[in-house]
Amino acid sequence: MTRRLEGTVALVTGASSGIGHATARELAREGASVALVGRREDRLTDLAAEISNTGGTALAVPADITDAQAAAEAIERTVEGLGRLDTLVNNAGLMLLGPTPGADLNDWRRMIDINLTGLMYTTHAAIPHLIKAAAEEPRQVADIVNISSLNGRNAYAFFAVYTATKFGVTGFSEALRQELAKQHVRVSVVEPGSVDTELRTHNPDVIQQQIDAALGDIDRLQSQDVADTVGYIVTRPRHVAVAELLVRPTEQA
Ligand code: NDP
Repeated sequence: MTRRLEGTVALVTGASSGIGHATARELAREGASVALVGRREDRLTDLAAEISNTGGTALAVPADITDAQAAAEAIERTVEGLGRLDTLVNNAGLMLLGPTPGADLNDWRRMIDINLTGLMYTTHAAIPHLIKAAAEEPRQVADIVNISSLNGRNAYAFFAVYTATKFGVTGFSEALRQELAKQHVRVSVVEPGSVDTELRTHNPDVIQQQIDAALGDIDRLQSQDVADTVGYIVTRPRHVAVAELLVRPTEQA
């Protein structure tokens, strides 16, 4: 394994499970020191220990990033603890599905708070550090990778508010990409199709059964497949920016 991120620091939100967990490991394998953000501290601590035991450097940073101050503190603790910030992976998210008429407004608020507002809070706090890292060795480039979704491209019935948050991520990312391009801070969007994680388990059983029935018996993506995609994006040469990557299970129509 090459260590193309040696000397850099990455922060991954939602590192306590699924895609974020796999991505933090992947970036550590490439030599980055990684800050692990999420609310479940025990899982972050376990992953930090695993990365340290394999020769890497990791810092557990428990935080609920739907709170602006907590998000800013997570960024500051990372820079204090690991020295800089080169890569921000905004991955934390929630998907609560169902009919729009009669939906629980609290479900909508929770999704918007984490999928969109939380992502904006961490980004806002990280930008000055990313601009600084992009002006310095070893890579002279920095990255924000936002995990959107196939639902950030296509709208589907019963996914209305989840879809709205992910379309929001795509729009926010493209505007920010234009703002930061000249400073060599790249902004990328990853749009996975169905990935086998905890994400859908936050829905009632009946909704989970409907998702499974709609997808059919297909071989879903694994978290590592998305981690590989993030790894590809952030290891491109300085003059190459991957703006958007949509990754589906081969069998997902
Ligand atoms: P998981 O449910 O496994 O991961 C979600 C992560 O978000 C958890 O680590 C959770 O950590 C974290 N999180 C949730 N709320 C907060 C919060 N308030 N503050 C900090 N962290 C929070 O699902 P996935 O790995 O599948 O999801 C990761 C991303 O990928 C999401 O943005 C999702 O929308 C996207 N995605 C997933 C797809 C799929 O099919 N699975 C497809 C397309 C996109 P904790 O609970 O410890 O706080």
